[in-house]
This record gives sequence, C-alpha cells and structure tokens, in this order.
Amino acid sequence: MLDETRIRLEAIHYVRDLRERWVAVPASEVQQFTTGGERVFLKGQQGIFKPAELTDPLSVTSTIDSPYTDDPIEGSRVLYDFLPATREFENVGLKRCADSEVPLIYFLQVKRRPGPEYVVFAPVYVVGWDDVARRFLIDLSEQKPGEVVSPPPVTRQLTLPAIRTPQSPMEIRELSKSYVVTTVQRRLYHARFRNAVLKAYRERCAVCGLRLRPLLDAAFVAPDHDPQPVIAVNEGIALCATHHRAFDARILRYDSEYTIHIELPDRFHAAQGERDMLLAFDGRKLDLPEDQDLWPKTRGLA
Ligand SMILES: [Zn+2]
Repeated sequence: MLDETRIRLEAIHYVRDLRERWVAVPASEVQQFTTGGERVFLKGQQGIFKPAELTDPLSVTSTIDSPYTDDPIEGSRVLYDFLPATREFENVGLKRCADSEVPLIYFLQVKRRPGPEYVVFAPVYVVGWDDVARRFLIDLSEQKPGEVVSPPPVTRQLTLPAIRTPQSPMEIRELSKSYVVTTVQRRLYHARFRNAVLKAYRERCAVCGLRLRPLLDAAFVAPDHDPQPVIAVNEGIALCATHHRAFDARILRYDSEYTIHIELPDRFHAAQGERDMLLAFDGRKLDLPEDQDLWPKTRGLA
C-alpha cells in the first residue's frame, strides 16, 4: 500500500512539474512516467484510468466533446459523467476514491486531435456523485475536501510545493477563495487564449515562422493576464519559445508599423547564434493575421 501511495504521489509530482513548462500539455508528455525504472501509465484516451500498479483509479480525462467541457467550472468544480454500465467497476473505483479522499489527476482536454493538449489539475478529489443523473462532482481546486490551504496529510511528507501557512481562519477563507479563482480559471483561460492566438496566426511564430506547435506560445502584449470574459486575440502574439523569451526580455520588440527591432545587450558581440536567431529578423515585419482586428496592441513601442 505504501508503494501505491508513493507511485500515486510521484505521478502527481510529475504532472505538476509538466505544467511549469506547458500552458497546455501535449498528449505525448502525459502518457506515462518512470519511477524506480518502471514505466507507469498516467491516462487512457478518455474516462477513468487505473494503471496496473494501483488498486484505485489514478486519473480522469475529459474529452473536448464532453457536454461539460465548455463551461465546466462552477467555482472550482466540474461534473463528470459515469462511464457506461458495462464499465460500472470503474465508476465503483472512482466512488472508492471519493470515500477515501484519494488524490487524483484530472486531464481536461483543450485541443482536439491530432496532437491533443490538456490542462492538468492535481491533486484533485471526487467530492460527490449522483447515482440517478450518473455524474460525479470533482473539485479541481487542488485542496482536500473539508480542508483549505493545507496540503492533505498524506502528501505533506512528500513535499508537494509548499503553500504558505495562513494566520487566521479569515485569511484561510480569503486565500482559498482567491486560490480557486486564480488557479482553476486562470489555467483554463491561458490554454484557451493560446488556442485562439495560435489559430489566428495559423500556428506559426510571427517573427520567424516556426510552425512546431509544442514550441509555440501565445505571448501576452497586455500587462493584465487575468481571465477576461471574452478572449481578445489582440492582447497576444504567437511567438516561438526563443522569440517569446526575447520579447519578454526586451531584446526583441516591434514598433507601431509592426517592424521588428532587435537590441542585444551593450558590448555583446553577436556570433552565429544571435545572428541567425535574432539579428536576421531586425527590420523585418511581423507576420500577422489577415484580420487586422486581431493584430496585437503595440506594447513597448518606446
Ligand atoms: Zn520565432
């Protein structure tokens, strides 16, 4: 059992690390992970997934076509349909997780095949179910039911990223309220923002034209990155990882005519790498969407 707990928590750590790197994690990154030289699978195509190493389910995957995908969030919770009666044992497994407050991973699909992508929540808990409507209620706030802010005891010893200790019950309530809004909704918003921006730019870097989606970001040109009621593509620009970093570091900027300017640090002697990846684009125009309404606001013109 100890071993099962260890595998479960390592899986949770693994997926939490992934999202440090990805706004939306490519499917290839979330199929499996390795622990003690053993490969452990993390998810199925959809539905409730239990790897061979565990007694109880490890993850739940929602598909983009789920009736709840568009607006699943009521606070921090999502509804999740039972699997069909032929797979009732999997529903029973997930109910067991609810009863024992077993931490799970939730993969929420945000991009269709080919190359599906997921927003990842972990640890999450099944907080209830309805046998008549045949639906689970899953809380994505990454807090154990009935507790707020503190990580669940079972995970404490495995050093999940520390959440600071609040001073008072009032502060606990406030912290947990903002935490729910900022993490669950923000993660989904950022993934959808990236989808919309990359689509407008025909999935290519506006500077160099790179088209490999795993290397593409939607860089924010507006200072406010908080979720908005409607996604505004003109608050972003599609950039590859290198040009995104260069943009944020103000090595790369564009003017009101959307001409690219490269400024290397003083006394920096450019070699082949800087010439090919940066200076080659100095003075060129950004490759923008056809629809001018989608062109980025001209941040950092000075
Ligand atoms: Zn680029």
